[in-house]
Amino acid sequence: MTELAAGTILGYPRIGRRRELKRAVEAHWRGELEETALERVAADLRRDTRHRLADLGLGRADSAIPESFSFYDQVLDVAAAVGALPERFAHLRRADGTIPLAAYFTAARGEGDVAPLEMTKWFDTNYHYLVPEIGPETHFTLSSDRFARQVAEAVADGFTTRPVLVGPVTFLALSKTTDAAPAARPLDRLDDLLPVYVDLLAALRDAGAEWVQLDEPALVSQSLGYTDDELAAAAARAAEVLASAERRPAILVAAGYGQLSAAAWRALAASPVDAIAVDLIRGSIPAPTAGLASKVLVAGVIDGRNVWRGDLASAADAVDQVARLGAAATVAGTSTSLQHVPYDLDDETELDPRLVSWLAFADQKVRQIATLARGLRDGREAIADEVDAATAALADRRHAAGVRDGAVRDRVAALTPADRIRTPYEVRAAVQGAALGLPVLPTTTIGSFPQTGEIRRARARFGRGEIDADAYEGFLRDEIARVVELQKEIGLDVLVHGEAERNDMVQYFAENLDGFAVTRNGWVQSYGSRATRPSILWGDVSRPTPITVRWSAYAQSLSTSPVKGMLTGPVTILAWSFVRDDQPLSETADQVALALRDEIADLEGAGIAIVQVDEPALRELLPLTAADQPAYLDWSVASFRLATAGAADATQIHTHLCYSEFGVVIGAIAALDADVTSIEAARSRGEVISDVAASGFDHGIGPGVYDIHSPRIPSHAEVTALLERAAAELDVRRLWVNPDCGLKTRGYVETAASLRNIVAAARSVRARATADV
Ligand code: GLN
Ligand code: ZN
Repeated sequence: MTELAAGTILGYPRIGRRRELKRAVEAHWRGELEETALERVAADLRRDTRHRLADLGLGRADSAIPESFSFYDQVLDVAAAVGALPERFAHLRRADGTIPLAAYFTAARGEGDVAPLEMTKWFDTNYHYLVPEIGPETHFTLSSDRFARQVAEAVADGFTTRPVLVGPVTFLALSKTTDAAPAARPLDRLDDLLPVYVDLLAALRDAGAEWVQLDEPALVSQSLGYTDDELAAAAARAAEVLASAERRPAILVAAGYGQLSAAAWRALAASPVDAIAVDLIRGSIPAPTAGLASKVLVAGVIDGRNVWRGDLASAADAVDQVARLGAAATVAGTSTSLQHVPYDLDDETELDPRLVSWLAFADQKVRQIATLARGLRDGREAIADEVDAATAALADRRHAAGVRDGAVRDRVAALTPADRIRTPYEVRAAVQGAALGLPVLPTTTIGSFPQTGEIRRARARFGRGEIDADAYEGFLRDEIARVVELQKEIGLDVLVHGEAERNDMVQYFAENLDGFAVTRNGWVQSYGSRATRPSILWGDVSRPTPITVRWSAYAQSLSTSPVKGMLTGPVTILAWSFVRDDQPLSETADQVALALRDEIADLEGAGIAIVQVDEPALRELLPLTAADQPAYLDWSVASFRLATAGAADATQIHTHLCYSEFGVVIGAIAALDADVTSIEAARSRGEVISDVAASGFDHGIGPGVYDIHSPRIPSHAEVTALLERAAAELDVRRLWVNPDCGLKTRGYVETAASLRNIVAAARSVRARATADV
């Protein structure tokens, strides 16, 4: 086995420091950039990454530098490499059966009637991967040489990099089956897939790779429909087949994103793989076990998912503890790929320098890894200065004003259970019914209206100081007036102001709450060419002044119909920010909840009778291990209730969840005790309606009737059919009529036409329903 560096990272951002890949890929999709030019942009990015990582202290020749580039998604990369794209893309293959870049992009994005692969969240992160479809018809065969070419490209540049691939067990465990047989599961195809990985490993070795990294985070999850033992057995089987390959690089199996199951840990240690990476940020030091003497262990001590400066003293201690497990060698590593954090703190010139001293983005984390590696080689004394500097920065953080705000803490400490309980639902429902005077099957939207180029331009000009606050404010008021007028004209029952003032449903609140900082260039890939800029929640959270009240109140002043106030819930604010790691999430969530509670009180004071608190991330943060789920559901529900339970009985609280797979969270959704919950349903053709009915959910419910992910305009007949299905299965007095989600990504033409059809359909179903009652 060739030696592995003393320090490594499990992956690095790939979108470009200034989102160069996004720009190039989107230009290519628009037909403005040839494929060869796009490939050149990608090759330049890879070269810049290699050189940057070497400058930051990773070795050029010892496989320390991961090769983790992707044009779109790492799962799709493997699907293309092993030939596992569904039949509907078959015509896009080359004559020799290989899969060109055009087919890869079509699988990601769809084309005409050809639907793309489904997208879903990668473990408990906000990164989305494309879900492979595996069935008896899937024929695995090596179909792309992209991974090998990237290794060869690095070799030509003087680097021995370590290609990173999603491993075979995780690839299959994340796939969905196309097999109609009820018991069929993608992981059952492991033995058919492994020979292709053997071919892939041979190609990587031939290209010059000495190590390969197979990412197997499925081994930390109990949420994929497989037991720990099934996943461990699959990992053992994969290791046996891959390790016996005649020509291959040394194999590192990386199990980030959580605690590696005991079964998988034992199986990997006993297997013939050459190295195992464990996540010591989310997981703990594994127990001694047989088989380690021949292995390298990568101790994931620097957090790949958050932006805090790593505590080098405890990181070095953890590395030492791992070293005592008896492995052949120990390597300092990150807990996961760094794809979840921005590139470089040095790009943030506007952040408070004191805050900066507590932080580390990808490049700073690489430096920390290089330091730890030096400590491993030369002893702890050799890195004493760096360790002390990190310790001092973190001590400063602990005592800094704002990190702990006495007033906020006193308020949280004084909370009682009663602060999270409203009057019983039936009582509220009667009061609200009388106060609001809405018809049966009331129509509404989820909050945002199209974010037009004009809105984005005005925001950008305001940001650059080209227009002043008054001019921007005036622009937004005009926009609100237009949106309200349109809704009145269409005949919606409950109106919204349209959210034109928000760049993003979390960042907007972060910008207006104390305890948060926002970045300039801190982009993180969300999916494909899309990136978000998560805010940094660094201190105790409070609300200096009302945030949304003036927009909602202005909208309400233009209409006699109720205007719904629009807030983002505590769990979603946490999920889509970089949150502080020095206290339990539950405490941070309660602080955010109190700020929202005050906002709701102010909205009520301004005459707003309905407030929606969006929680689309409620399910995303659900822990991967079953044992951790109940506590999470308890505190997340409790924080929502804290945010909303101060509302008067007459104030109708709505919530919105983006998805329709209720599964384990249905009980929690009911426990939110919102008066009305809107969910996605149109996309799944109303299937979820039966699940809701079966669960006994008895509060207001708005199953979406308009799939806003597509430019299609749902017809009157289609919406009517969905509404009739809902009315047949659920209590019609509790039913609401709304789209699946917000309209911000849609254009005005299709939005107006769709909403007209929705209102007309609601009216006809309403007429029949009221005749029946
Ligand atoms: N109120 C938000 C909107 O309409 C909700 C978005 C979401 O659920 N992701 O855009
Ligand atoms: Zn949504």
